[in-house]
Amino acid sequence: MPSRAGASRTIERGLPRQAGSVGKPIKLVRELILSRSRLIEARLQRIDERSLYSRPMTAVSEMRIGDEAALQIEARLGAVRAALDSESVPSLLVTGEQDVRFLAGCFGHDTRVLVTDSRAILISDRRYEEYLAPWAECGLFEVAIFNRPGQLQHVASVLGDEKIGVLGIQAAHLTLDAKAGLAASLDGIELAPVHGLMATLRMRKSPEEVEAIRRAIAVQSAALETTLSELRVGMTEGQVAARLIYEMRIRGAEGEAFEPIVASGPNASVIHHVPGAHPIGPGVLLIDWGARIDGLCSDLTRTFFLGEPDDEMRRIYSVVAEAERAAIDACQVGTATAEVDAAAREIIAAAGWGDHFAHSVGHGLGRDVHERPFLGREGEQTKLAPGMVVTIEPGIYIPGRGGVRIEDDILVTEDGPCVLSAALDSSLEGAIRPIPDGGHTR
Ligand code: ZN
Ligand code: ZN
Repeated sequence: MPSRAGASRTIERGLPRQAGSVGKPIKLVRELILSRSRLIEARLQRIDERSLYSRPMTAVSEMRIGDEAALQIEARLGAVRAALDSESVPSLLVTGEQDVRFLAGCFGHDTRVLVTDSRAILISDRRYEEYLAPWAECGLFEVAIFNRPGQLQHVASVLGDEKIGVLGIQAAHLTLDAKAGLAASLDGIELAPVHGLMATLRMRKSPEEVEAIRRAIAVQSAALETTLSELRVGMTEGQVAARLIYEMRIRGAEGEAFEPIVASGPNASVIHHVPGAHPIGPGVLLIDWGARIDGLCSDLTRTFFLGEPDDEMRRIYSVVAEAERAAIDACQVGTATAEVDAAAREIIAAAGWGDHFAHSVGHGLGRDVHERPFLGREGEQTKLAPGMVVTIEPGIYIPGRGGVRIEDDILVTEDGPCVLSAALDSSLEGAIRPIPDGGHTR
């Protein structure tokens, strides 16, 4: 678990102000001071714990692109141009929201990036003018702001007389309608769908990206701890999900990486269960949740038993844990993604539950919660490389009874797999919890 703020600092900040003591009996004042002190101390401790992972806030008007960020942007623009070169496409219109943020560092809300061999242009509208000023000042981008949204139609005026001949478009991030509108506005320019170029560049994470994932894991772990401590029988799955989201955001998460899955009892056999009005009760409680920090996602699953599980559920948990360990151990540089999946699948099949593991063993994790490389039986056969961050999440699901999934986030390194979420207990002993009291929390 993450380290906590030192008590001495909390106490120092928790000292009550003295002004209120004037004219009051000494004993009363001392009691008042003590009770206020404890109250303030407790409140500050809570705030300190919650804001441990927040970054200092900077007003938008004070934002600057620092030297390190500028170097990273330059490197990423260079990588895009090199990749375009190898595909013989001279330019690319980047429309994927997370791709825009990866490339430029700005939010990709209604902002696109046009990359040619000599220019990089952020195309947006008046709503983002102030926010994008630092990008205009840093010298790495031209920023083209239009009065009205609809940036794709503005690509033609940005290009002006520039004869690019072919414009690459992201097949995964452009609707047919948008493509038709773009084609109509670009006279004499051929649109060339580009597949997976940005996704490939994003597979290996920078140290800063890994650090953001680590912080997201710390935030979601602390959020889980608080949520579990306030769990009550009778709370609904939806209320538990809402609490998780609240606890992550209060600790500095930009948001949840995805809608949390909170599945109680038999609902735990539904792999992507949508939490609803089902009440939490004795039995299985599966929670799959994640935070987003600085654009990067974390994604973990823990399965709990409220009350003692029966022998079959214990056995299932142990097999899933064993399968997860095997797949994590297989996350070595150079190993094919399908081999990682096979390492877990063989164990689950040998235990007799092969038909009850109906999804791939994991996926790449980054700016999208599901991104390349995908660790499945079929599909891509990427070899793992240093800097990739992947989830490992085998599961066994028994319709009508429930299910068990354990998911951790793994950084692939030259020295072997590094489990970024190792601090969050996933042992069977830790999964078995007393049945919480009934009643409502706030
Ligand atoms: Zn998950
Ligand atoms: Zn996942």
